[in-house]
Amino acid sequence: MNTLKQLPELTALVEAGKNPFNQVLMNYVDQGGKTVGFMYQDTPEEIITAAGAAPIYLRGTTSEGTEMAEAFFRQLTCNYTKHTYNEILDGKWDFLDGAVLYNLCDHSRRIYDNWKTIPGNPAYHFMYVPKKRSELSKDFYREEINKLIKATEEHFGVEITKEKLAEAIKLHNETRRLQQEIYEMQKGEEVYLTGLELLMVMLAGVSLPRPEYNKMMKDLIAALKANGPRIKPKVRLLYTGGHADNPEFFELLQQNDAHVVSDNTGFGTRAADVLICEDGDPLEAIINYYFEEKPAATRQMGTQVERMERLLDLVKQYKADGVVASRLYMCDLWAFEHFLMRKRLHENNVPFLELEVDYTPEGQGQIKTRVQAFVESLADRQTA
Ligand code: SF4
Repeated sequence: MNTLKQLPELTALVEAGKNPFNQVLMNYVDQGGKTVGFMYQDTPEEIITAAGAAPIYLRGTTSEGTEMAEAFFRQLTCNYTKHTYNEILDGKWDFLDGAVLYNLCDHSRRIYDNWKTIPGNPAYHFMYVPKKRSELSKDFYREEINKLIKATEEHFGVEITKEKLAEAIKLHNETRRLQQEIYEMQKGEEVYLTGLELLMVMLAGVSLPRPEYNKMMKDLIAALKANGPRIKPKVRLLYTGGHADNPEFFELLQQNDAHVVSDNTGFGTRAADVLICEDGDPLEAIINYYFEEKPAATRQMGTQVERMERLLDLVKQYKADGVVASRLYMCDLWAFEHFLMRKRLHENNVPFLELEVDYTPEGQGQIKTRVQAFVESLADRQTA
């Protein structure tokens, strides 16, 4: 194993993951590149790409407060929503040429409602994603996809042809293949990336124009392979959670020789694991993928049995000693999911740590103590 050293190919991607307004994206914007803000993981990004724009994940990672957003939301709204909207009000997202939101949850969907009241706002479409799979809901979903295509064509004055959709699928599948390669490299006894690096590299995927990201990923994989594995974790953790995309939080999970070796997140393995079919009608392929083929997001599509089986399968694949899950304060969606995880993981004798956290680093100090205690208990388990 090599001594942990910073590779320039890695630093560039980690920086892009940490900062939604990263330099690579800003250079693209300065050169006239078009961008559309979106929320992962149920926005069909390929449609935005086919319109000639880069889909960029909306988040409030660099926000320092929610003062302005407080006037628009109830106190019980989660801080991902408030920090993100605060950044919108602060003008940080003014570079966007468009924005598409969907009914992810009752908190985040209000970003769209409030944004629409601002003159000149870029939010041109709201999409309804059904939460259950059935023939009826698939017909409804097909209509929603067609509405999104029409709205995007009108907004950008372009035609989204089948050929453009097929090209977009290829581009996004290339991202998925590259991300799968990185995840494969995390399965061995020695791994190539720390948890923080891994999650930031994946987050960069929704924070950069795809052609640039894919090129940077190829360079990173070549550099990592040339240097060999960099870390031998004594305790292997699998991370899962929603909207905890703050780098400081992932640093807290990295203690002594414990490392997050993989994840179950919407911008991580759930985005990478399944490819969109490249044969046949590209529009049908996109509909099939988002409706029933990709791993289901928390309490969206699929069944709880499928979601829990997937989590257990990831634990096996990455030989994880335990699962760490986080949810933001006020997030009912993930509170229910944690309840299900707790039961299922306990039945399978997989140690589980649940953390309720804030979106920003403040107040996360006490988390460190809980993670330390969890990691120690896992280490004791190995020697027992
Ligand atoms: S953290 Fe929970 S409540 Fe907030 S936007 Fe995400 S899913 Fe919704």
